[in-house]
Amino acid sequence: MRLSMIAIVIFSVLSVQGAYARAPVQVERSHADKSARVVSRKPFRMPASEQRNLAGNPSWTAPQKPFRIHGDTWYVGPRGIGVFLVTAPTGDVLIDGGVPGDAPLIEANIRSLGIDLHHIKWILNSHAHFDHAGGIAQLAYDTGAQVIAGAADAALLERGGRDDPEYGDRFPFPPVQVARTVADGERLHLGDLVLTAHATPGHTKGNTTWTWMSCEVARCLHIVDIGSLSAPGYTLVGNRNYRDIDEDFRRSFSMVAALPCDIALGPHPEMVNLWARVAKRRRGDANALVDPALCRTYASESRASFAAELAKQRAGAVSGK
Ligand SMILES: [Zn+2]
Repeated sequence: MRLSMIAIVIFSVLSVQGAYARAPVQVERSHADKSARVVSRKPFRMPASEQRNLAGNPSWTAPQKPFRIHGDTWYVGPRGIGVFLVTAPTGDVLIDGGVPGDAPLIEANIRSLGIDLHHIKWILNSHAHFDHAGGIAQLAYDTGAQVIAGAADAALLERGGRDDPEYGDRFPFPPVQVARTVADGERLHLGDLVLTAHATPGHTKGNTTWTWMSCEVARCLHIVDIGSLSAPGYTLVGNRNYRDIDEDFRRSFSMVAALPCDIALGPHPEMVNLWARVAKRRRGDANALVDPALCRTYASESRASFAAELAKQRAGAVSGK
């Protein structure tokens, strides 16, 4: 069973590479903004390190029927990666793009909601890692949308995840042309829809938590797509590529804990136990996705695991391990 799942994933990864090999290069859309240009001349080749990572995470490419989170906020990603669509009469906003090769799945989900891809005006990014930015180049090309990201992640997006401070060249993705960068607290207005960028650096330097309000009839709720606050395998002591990593993470824990937060979402659904809450809602608890304490809970759990890892690395540094 496990082997056959891996075989399916490897097959889909190879198909993805095939798809990229056929993708047009250096094409400009006459009606679209410059952000929709395909910036890479080279077809994307996924290295073995990334193929192995994907094979170990089959949910990142697994289909998931799209569904309404609340009001105009929809889940449109694969099962294992949070990708969200916020719709508005003046244009829609997509947040993140899954792994390289997830774009067709995300686009099919959006179309199945009756939404025209060209109605998407912006693609926002949570952070410049291949599991959230991997499909963005394709999505930007297909929609004509502008890509907007935290200022400190723009260069990493544009070099397709290469030379990542923690991962080097192990997890690249098709390079993304960033049309606009945002600073901490910056608000984006699209008609009545307002999305706010909160800089939550650490996981990447430009890691961004996005917040907005979604209303269902008269019930308006604060939605928060929390930027990842994990540090998987990161060097926390003496990190020459990221000297402020400790301070940045600490500030980000406090930032997320302080946000008004009715429905917490995340780039990885398990960050906020999303599927258990969705299942509970399906069983009849209409409020199962609403938990104003969840941003605080996630921040404090992340702070605790960060502190434990930091203590471990400091002890190792002292003992010379
Ligand atoms: Zn990440």
